[in-house]
Amino acid sequence: MTNTRDFYGHLSAELQAIRDAGLYKAERVITSPQGARIQTLASDGSSHAVLNLCANNYLGLSSHPAVIAAAHEALRTRGYGMSSVRFICGTQDLHKTLETRLSRFLGTEDTLLYAAAFDANGGLFEPLLGEQDAVISDELNHASIIDGIRLCKAKRYRYKHNDMADLELCLRQAASDGARYKLVFTDGVFSMDGTVAQLGSMRSLCDQYGALLGIDDCHASGFMGATGRGTHEHRGLFGKVDIITGTLGKALGGASGGFTSARREVIELLRQRSRPYLFSNTLAPCIVGATIAVLDLLEGSTALRDKLADNTRYFRSAMTQLGFDIKPGEHPIVPIMVYDAALAQQLAARLLELGIYVVGFFFPVVPKGQARIRVQLSAAHQREDLERAVSAFAQAGRELGLLV
Ligand SMILES: *Cc1c(COP(=O)(O)O)cnc(C)c1O
Repeated sequence: MTNTRDFYGHLSAELQAIRDAGLYKAERVITSPQGARIQTLASDGSSHAVLNLCANNYLGLSSHPAVIAAAHEALRTRGYGMSSVRFICGTQDLHKTLETRLSRFLGTEDTLLYAAAFDANGGLFEPLLGEQDAVISDELNHASIIDGIRLCKAKRYRYKHNDMADLELCLRQAASDGARYKLVFTDGVFSMDGTVAQLGSMRSLCDQYGALLGIDDCHASGFMGATGRGTHEHRGLFGKVDIITGTLGKALGGASGGFTSARREVIELLRQRSRPYLFSNTLAPCIVGATIAVLDLLEGSTALRDKLADNTRYFRSAMTQLGFDIKPGEHPIVPIMVYDAALAQQLAARLLELGIYVVGFFFPVVPKGQARIRVQLSAAHQREDLERAVSAFAQAGRELGLLV
């Protein structure tokens, strides 16, 4: 006999198990706008100014004056909310403008806005692929891609992370299983390592086996590539990727919202059938207006993405010189390898005392024995901020025996 008291007791036991396993996630409360320096609230109610090295605020646009001004202007001229899905009465001229502007920025034909990139991925696969089709996916793809693929009837194939030989095996298997259409889908940049997908090899394999190629460019749109268009530009494949999904919640202003960008036919069908688009509210006008201002900034100058690249080079090289073990690469995600989960937590805690806010990642977010601190750089960081961070890492690293 079950009753509701059993149910709530069961939940309490689950929560305790999460705590016992050391996997309980707490939220840190911030009392300032998002930026290079933030104000955090400790559990005793005291307030602390810290340097923030863990936001997805790659271009420093979360609190940029031009972006805030554009949000105000949209609020003033288009109101606060639309109280509607897009196809009833939730589409303003601003929404159409942003879709056109994103298509131009990304080098695609058309774009569809969603409330989040999670929804863009959640509503992508089911309308496009049926049970005769195949979707081939990197094993480390983002949770939203995995969920989106679960919702579609296509046959699923999964290749080892970033392993092109295994991708080819999957393509061959899908062909021999008689797949009608094949779609290969990957994160453009993987968030735990900053690994950039090998889109050149992937495009060649897709062409060889007659497959479509899609990327989720959440950790790339706005700053990867010479003019910040994304991983496809970075890899010399601008205009040569079939489907791009992305977020407005990271480099492109950091509020919220997502999109899918592709050929006209793809977007037109998604407008008819994609469930998170059909059954969820339209994006707020102030976010839409602010994102148009973000694209104005990025199309007008590469200064922000250049500064981010410069900050990334400086920080990676200074940390390597100190003797830290960092995963090589060029992305502003900089994984500082500690390997031991407890040590990663101690390092993050000590750095916070020193005024540097970073987060330790350990199993199950990364594989066992691969614990790390993930630093994320921003164009909002000044050189003196990064020098301060590097010297705090040096001090904490020596104290904890990570550096000699
Ligand atoms: C952050 C992220 C998402 C989710 O983006 P939201 O717009 O916040 O829903 C999806 N995919 C990847 C790869 C991400 O990094």
